[in-house]
Amino acid sequence: MLDIAHPVWRSDSRLTDARCSPDRAKIESHGPLLNVEFPIPFDRIRPEHIVPAIETLIGKARRRVEDLTAQTAAPDFENTLRPLDRLSEPLDRAMAVVKHLESVGSTAEFRAALAAVEPRVSDFRADLHSNRDLWKRVEQFAASDEARQLDNARGRFLARWQSTLKRCGAGLDAAGKERLAAIQRELGALTTRFAQNVHDATNAFELVITSGDELGCMRFPAVRRARASAEARGVRGWRFTLEPSSYQAVMLDVPNAALREQAYRAYVTRAADGAFDNRPLISRILELRRQMARLLGYDNFADMILSGRMLGSSTQALAFLADLRQRLEPQFLREREELREYHGRLTERYATPLQPWDVYFYASRQAGSVEAHTIPASYFALEKVTAGLFEIARRLYGIRMEEETGAATWNAETKCYSIRDEDGSLLGGFYADWFPRENKRGGAWMDGLLTGGPSPSGFRPHLAAICANLTRPSKGWPALLTHHDVQTIFHEFGHVLHHCLSRVEIRTLSGTNVAQDFVELPSQIMENWCWEREALELFARDRQTALPVPDSLLWDAARGRRFLSGARHMMQIGIGVLDLLLHTSYSPESDGDVTDYSRRVLEPYSLTSLLPEDAAVASLTHLFGGPVALGAGYYSYKWAEVMAADAFTRFRAEGILSGEPGREFREKVLARGGGEDASVLYRDFLGRDPDPEAFLEREGLN
Ligand SMILES: [Zn+2]
Repeated sequence: MLDIAHPVWRSDSRLTDARCSPDRAKIESHGPLLNVEFPIPFDRIRPEHIVPAIETLIGKARRRVEDLTAQTAAPDFENTLRPLDRLSEPLDRAMAVVKHLESVGSTAEFRAALAAVEPRVSDFRADLHSNRDLWKRVEQFAASDEARQLDNARGRFLARWQSTLKRCGAGLDAAGKERLAAIQRELGALTTRFAQNVHDATNAFELVITSGDELGCMRFPAVRRARASAEARGVRGWRFTLEPSSYQAVMLDVPNAALREQAYRAYVTRAADGAFDNRPLISRILELRRQMARLLGYDNFADMILSGRMLGSSTQALAFLADLRQRLEPQFLREREELREYHGRLTERYATPLQPWDVYFYASRQAGSVEAHTIPASYFALEKVTAGLFEIARRLYGIRMEEETGAATWNAETKCYSIRDEDGSLLGGFYADWFPRENKRGGAWMDGLLTGGPSPSGFRPHLAAICANLTRPSKGWPALLTHHDVQTIFHEFGHVLHHCLSRVEIRTLSGTNVAQDFVELPSQIMENWCWEREALELFARDRQTALPVPDSLLWDAARGRRFLSGARHMMQIGIGVLDLLLHTSYSPESDGDVTDYSRRVLEPYSLTSLLPEDAAVASLTHLFGGPVALGAGYYSYKWAEVMAADAFTRFRAEGILSGEPGREFREKVLARGGGEDASVLYRDFLGRDPDPEAFLEREGLN
């Protein structure tokens, strides 16, 4: 029977192979990467296609740049900006697919091919973004009457290109360009070493516990991991490292303070001496970033990074953090007092102050085992969770997800879904690759594979992939998820929706191509539905009893979420402040050694005083693990949390599953991508600017 409903999903390779066409030899030799269209023929893409296809596509894109800059006609939107939006589209699509395939199945052949093409693609982009002729043409257009009258999206597109060209030094003379290239080379090398040092220093430490009594009441998963780690090294007992989950288990549950102290000291002095010393690197990285910003016409690195963001300057970002700090300080101080009191009572050592390695241990005793405050996995079967998620999305946004069994994938377990609008029209689709495999990257993420949108030939569907490493189903048991896994799925699906519901005409402003301090709103807001009774009713049922989550469990889980929230958020605010100060006002001459300076800045944000040798800044890969990394942008974590809680207040007021705010969120935020200023999108949806109250309330901080 003909599948009339979903013809677009069919990618029948037999049909292509059997077709006797003069172009066949050409298609086969270049492979399916040369013209990636919806749907993607994943079953036909081979590693040997990568290098020839990407080289061909780079060549074509370079010729388009030459044609664009060689024009003699005065620049206008159609002859200059429009081609800029499209000139690397086939290359971008092919690279998105190749990178995705490498992350879900990293074979030696894929890695080698990707390693061969990646530098060439970066060179192409660097040349494009620093092209002086292009810069002149764009600036000439910006000064025209037409440019002044552009609509919002087009105006923003022009501004985005002006900013990109400025930041990449397209306007610099030869000497300036040379200096910029030298800075970037050095920054690249130093930041790679920074990340490597953190990695090596993290691996260099181990804490082996040989007596089960020393583990206290550590939960089984952590104990099992520590046992496996010891076995892998051929040592007896349980082995802990400075990897976050392992380190956290020690801090939370090991009763022996001397052991916790040992791990703590190693943690806060990671990469701060010996062979992996990052301290000299930090000063140099900061200096190079400062020089780069100055060379490109900005006051400092932070203002260069923040221009174009929602919080558009370091002053605004610092003011946001200072306000948040002030609001949560009372709860932070309360937590500190209660913890000191509890610790003193329990240890009868009122004379001994609470030490930094005591904080998590005593706080978790005080709260009554932290892990107990969670909804057990028996409530979350993967199939039910995804069905519930799709139902929530249907009610909120009026879209329908359907499994497409005919589509080609990269792995037999991977599922494929279409996303259709209320009238049945195809908006896009996504692949769901849920389970771990050897050669698959860890963690969870969303890949935007194809960016569609309105076009002269009609609406082109979007395509995305959602990937995770969930527990596989096993004999008679469905895949059962932790509550945390459920939130992760909702979060990544929020990114999928942002990508797939976009209606932006300009490709490079579509979907998730928004300011970096706005991109986590559509994903984080989805996590709210994992905490609401009405939503949980749709997908959370106990596997054995089929009963919904009892109120007591939900209430307990909310309490677990608030564990030490004052201290945790305060420390993140502290790092955000430090990040901005280092990238704006810090100077070695007046502020002294960067490690001491950082400790002085962070101390007021900590529940206890910090050790004199504390060098936490030396392991902040978020800030220094790449030429730009998240430098001057750490605040955006908190900013996104504040917005996600705040924007959800509309759903809380009008109905958790109500279509009214849902449709508006789709129309006013998701559909508009980067086509409008993020602050305007937010105000259009909520009627005002972000307010931290809802976030503080959720975290028990007000
Ligand atoms: Zn995210």
